[in-house]
Amino acid sequence: MSSPSSSSSASSASSSPSSPSSISRQVVIIGAGAIGAMSALHAIDQGMQVTIVDPGTPGGEHASSYGNAGWLSSHSILPPSEPGVWKKVPGFLLDPLGPLSIRWRYLPRTLPWLLRYLIAGSTEARITETAKALRTLLAGAAPLHQQIAEKAGVGQLIELSGLLHVYRSRQHFEGDARGWRIRRELGIGWQEIEAEELHQREPDLDPGYGFGVFINEAGHCRNPGAYIAGLIQHACDRGASLRAVKATGFRFAGDRLAAVQTEEGEIVCDAAVIAAGAQAKMLAAQAGDNVPLETERGYHAMVEHPEGHPRTPMMIMDRKVIATQTELGLRVAGQVEIASFEAEPDWRRAEIMRDLALQLFPALPRDLPASRVRYWLGRRPSMPDGLPCIGPSTRSADVIHAFGHGHIGLGTSARTGRLVAQLLAGQKPEIDLAPFSAQRF
Ligand SMILES: Cc1cc2nc3c(=O)[nH]c(=O)nc-3n(C[C@H](O)[C@H](O)[C@H](O)COP(=O)(O)OP(=O)(O)OC[C@H]3O[C@@H](n4cnc5c(N)ncnc54)[C@H](O)[C@@H]3O)c2cc1C
Repeated sequence: MSSPSSSSSASSASSSPSSPSSISRQVVIIGAGAIGAMSALHAIDQGMQVTIVDPGTPGGEHASSYGNAGWLSSHSILPPSEPGVWKKVPGFLLDPLGPLSIRWRYLPRTLPWLLRYLIAGSTEARITETAKALRTLLAGAAPLHQQIAEKAGVGQLIELSGLLHVYRSRQHFEGDARGWRIRRELGIGWQEIEAEELHQREPDLDPGYGFGVFINEAGHCRNPGAYIAGLIQHACDRGASLRAVKATGFRFAGDRLAAVQTEEGEIVCDAAVIAAGAQAKMLAAQAGDNVPLETERGYHAMVEHPEGHPRTPMMIMDRKVIATQTELGLRVAGQVEIASFEAEPDWRRAEIMRDLALQLFPALPRDLPASRVRYWLGRRPSMPDGLPCIGPSTRSADVIHAFGHGHIGLGTSARTGRLVAQLLAGQKPEIDLAPFSAQRF
């Protein structure tokens, strides 16, 4: 990457305060993850002057967008909780290494979020409402990413080769009938694959898995960190400024935005986008919206030069993990750990991902040297109902929320960026944003 340009201000605000649709707006994008990168590119497409602020390096390991499983899964429309999941809460508290765990000390703080999370998946009607809204955000995600990646010169990172869910057996698949039925009702198609064909297609996979569901419309990213770095570089090549600084708040003039405040002074602007991922809560509050944003932490283990790996990225349905062959190696990603943003990582959880890699792909050596495995902790920015916040803030229509994308922030980022730019330009958003309003709580 060549070094991106830098500036001390977004330059003087030249658009009239009374004309929010003016394409000459000076926009500050707070956060250079997937959501910020896509928002920046689409705002530039609309002719706006863009400054991106982020204390971290774009595409760096600090961001959730770095180490995710790379799925561009337009079918990931179900909220994370489901009917009856409340019965498992005592287990989540007692088993610190289960697929979902809650740190005891954090429970009092997270309880209101947890209750909303349980309610969101408590009935089929609620799940279907969420699924309908997410489908509008996700439909066509993989080709959208491909178009943007090609324009940014990183088209090789996006593959439109489908995604796979693998089950132990057809019977286990039928146990998930509700979710698949909701998907079918919303127009999502798939191919069911019996054991013999599954193992022809996936010769390295543990033979204990005997049934697959192939989603043709989906795709994946082969290196999310490099993808984000490439998108931000492209934004800078097209005139955006990148500043390595943390945003701390806003200065308003009446109901209009006058500046974004940072640790190094103000950036004069007439619009801002809060795309700060799991750290967006404080900024959203300053823009008038107290949102129940929580950190759902997840982990990955990555095996370099693996002797066995998936041909198609796959979700292992009984383990709730995703295995993806990336540019950097075999990545096994998953786990949900409810703990504070700052809490120390529990690397035993990442070691579980490594052990699963060994189980799932038996060709990997049992004595896998530690030097070939890399571990990562990521912080999903999660709303309790599984729906992100996209839309104008209460304090001012000049501040746009774009955070809370939870488990699907890479996939949803392309359309989110487009919606953000439509809002900034005063255009009618291409989908109904009511389900994504920050004021819904
Ligand atoms: C294990 C795991 C697997 C996942 N797998 C997938 C997957 O396969 N597919 C998928 O679609 N999603 C997946 N996700 C979710 C996805 O990674 C996130 O939803 C997405 O990365 C969120 O993007 P973001 O831009 O909102 O946040 P981030 O990528 O976290 O970026 C936010 C940025 O904001 C910056 N920031 C924070 N505060 C400030 C501030 N005050 N001022 C300036 N900058 C600030 C941060 O430094 C950071 O760079 C996964 C997540 C995890 C943890």
